[in-house]
Amino acid sequence: MADAHIIDGKAFAEGLRRRVAVEVSKLVADHGITPGLAVVLVGEDPASQVYVRNKGRQTLEAGMNSFEHTLAAETSEADLLKLIDDLNNDDSVNGILVQLPLPAHINEDAVINAVAPEKDVDGFHVINTGRLATGDGRAMVPCTPLGCVMMLKDHLGDLSGKKALVLGRSNIVGKPMAALLLAESCTVTIAHSRTRDLADECRRADILVAAVGRAQMVRGDWIKPGAVVIDVGINRIEAPERGEGKTRLVGDVAFDEAVQVAGAITPVPGGVGPMTIACLLRNAVVATCRQHDLAAPEL
Ligand code: NAP
Repeated sequence: MADAHIIDGKAFAEGLRRRVAVEVSKLVADHGITPGLAVVLVGEDPASQVYVRNKGRQTLEAGMNSFEHTLAAETSEADLLKLIDDLNNDDSVNGILVQLPLPAHINEDAVINAVAPEKDVDGFHVINTGRLATGDGRAMVPCTPLGCVMMLKDHLGDLSGKKALVLGRSNIVGKPMAALLLAESCTVTIAHSRTRDLADECRRADILVAAVGRAQMVRGDWIKPGAVVIDVGINRIEAPERGEGKTRLVGDVAFDEAVQVAGAITPVPGGVGPMTIACLLRNAVVATCRQHDLAAPEL
């Protein structure tokens, strides 16, 4: 069998960011509105700092205003909630993202649900989760699963009737991913750490989305020939072949094996990752339009 088509998430994300920038320039020119995205980072987690920097840069590149709030790791929950309240009431801020994980002394759910649902560009607020689950079009949809579905539809067209297996049931990836695939009329199975015969479950899937956080766990012989594989995982492993102490990023799928069986696959890096920030910018534009009673663009 020929090697799988490699789904180029980086190129797809560039296209989406360009479309977002066009919509931003229309909002500025036609309505005098510049969308504003606020990102709140608590503490000094190096990976989160890199994400926040990238988000800020790409927000500005899309023509939006970027507001970065970097707080000390020992910031109290009350002070963080006060900042979120201020951002909720600030008309120049259309989207609010609180970078996760938060330090252990802060209740993550309380913070997530303090963000005004219409500014919740991450789509994690229970109101948005409920809207997604019930098919309410006002839902803000979590960025990573949204990017996955966009790539799947771009590659496959209609997803209706396909058997989809979502490996992982987190609130930020697995569950919303399953909800989105169900909304596309897939027949959805959600697998997790208690699933029996996991490899067999995976082998039945036309669409396999891996979001487990375990390096290269999904092997080539877990994949149905011709299936489309979306690898959400980001795992850092040692790479002695690159020199002493070197590391590299891999997904939850053993790419070299999977590429020989799948019909299409997203690489790591360069697959789902770039789409996540592009979808965040997309959500910021959609949120801005809705807050001004303007029709949100199809992006
Ligand atoms: P998470 O909250 O840790 O959830 C992992 C899920 O995988 C859980 O549902 C867990 O099952 C399941 N799982 C763990 N070990 C398993 C096993 N051996 N067999 C079957 N299921 C197993 O992770 P997450 O936040 O969803 O993230 C998943 C991965 O995606 C991570 O690598 C993360 O870095 C990556 N990620 C990437 C992006 C991106 O932009 N590309 C965004 C978000 C996350 P239980 O529920 O039973 O424990």
